[in-house]
Amino acid sequence: MVELRGQVWPGLQDAHLHLSPMAMRRLGVELTGSRSLDDCLARVRRRAEGLPRTAWIRGRGWYNDDWPDPAFPHRGQLDRAAGGRPAFLVRKDGHSAWVSSAALAIAGIGRETPDPAGGVIDRDSGGDPTGIVREKAVEVIRKVVPEPTDAELDRGLASTLRDLARLGLTSVQSMDRAREFAALQRLREAGRLPIRVTYNLPYADLAAAERMGLRSGWGDAWLRIWGVKAFLDGSLGSRTAEMLDGTGVPVLEQGELVELCRRCAEGHLNVALHAIGDKAVRRALDALEPLAGAWRWWRPRIEHAQCVHPDDWPRFQAAGVIASMQPIHAVSDRELADREWPRVTGNAYAWGALERAGARLAFGSDAPVETADPLAGMDAAVHWRERAEWYPGLSVGHRSALRAYTSGAAYAAGMEKWLGRLRPGYQCDLTVVADGRVTATVVAGRAVFRSRR
Ligand SMILES: [Zn+2]
Repeated sequence: MVELRGQVWPGLQDAHLHLSPMAMRRLGVELTGSRSLDDCLARVRRRAEGLPRTAWIRGRGWYNDDWPDPAFPHRGQLDRAAGGRPAFLVRKDGHSAWVSSAALAIAGIGRETPDPAGGVIDRDSGGDPTGIVREKAVEVIRKVVPEPTDAELDRGLASTLRDLARLGLTSVQSMDRAREFAALQRLREAGRLPIRVTYNLPYADLAAAERMGLRSGWGDAWLRIWGVKAFLDGSLGSRTAEMLDGTGVPVLEQGELVELCRRCAEGHLNVALHAIGDKAVRRALDALEPLAGAWRWWRPRIEHAQCVHPDDWPRFQAAGVIASMQPIHAVSDRELADREWPRVTGNAYAWGALERAGARLAFGSDAPVETADPLAGMDAAVHWRERAEWYPGLSVGHRSALRAYTSGAAYAAGMEKWLGRLRPGYQCDLTVVADGRVTATVVAGRAVFRSRR
């Protein structure tokens, strides 16, 4: 018997996130928000305690511009904090890294090493590397950092999933790689999956899936296979979203896209097509339209759909294509979108317009690119545009947002007959919310999270 106080919702789901990079972050030292060099070094020292002498220390998020003394740090300080271990700490922007002497030695970088093409090894007045490497020189070090062991990966994933449960999520749909799928299977066997996971495989693994006869829906209520994820274009942030005005980068050309959809349909595998720019979205719809309504199991999705030409809004419903969107992106991207897409920004992140045009919505976060917090996503979808005075007509109502995070997400992965509603015969997955906070998360009738009060 579980006593629940607050509003009881069907269990929240996230239709698009990436568990692997979330887990990887946990395996390293979190330096985001470190207030000074000393703060940074203290965090490294804590991580180093008890580690074997030769173990690598990974980390990310330091940002010397936020420190009282914004000078770049030195390997000597890191050598002491890491106890002589190899250490590789990526700066917040990802364009440089701070490494220890042992890491430099393992990578074969010394006084005589020339800068790699497209990269810089910072040096002191005597010509010795300082421990700061930039751009392509970061990759030289990254190559020698060992991949996490299976045990590390399992630990990182289990802790990530526990945190997702704490945020109120009962089920997530992840875009990852085979290695993470193996880890998820180990967690499933060991009873260490607190919430349900649907795994989408990368396009690169389609040939293997075809050979195996793998189909959408294989697995069980805790861990199952769904679609094949393929990229049609890049992103807004890197200016590679493929737009109708001719800008951006097509990552997958049309002939190959059509062929990919045909192969997936023949193999009983769904597709999840990453398309951010309006041209990429249009190409995805062009490829999916001829397959519309052919099979009951067919649930093609367009991931992100951040910029959709108004002419294409009704095509989602007509072609039975799910708009798998992440409302929180709008909050982060607003300024960039206004700058990069001035002519079309009034049609971007158009959840409300797509819904009115009859599209089925599935909401998620794209974590770790954005926060996985579904309440933040709900707020972005329902209230934020009004507050921010940014095309408030494209918002959705609370009921619509809740549907997109529950039954809509379930539909987008073929689970709508048993997940996403509070009805007899459905899995007992609940998210309990009071005063705008998650107070309990229930999966399969068991509380996997309860707040203290
Ligand atoms: Zn993503």
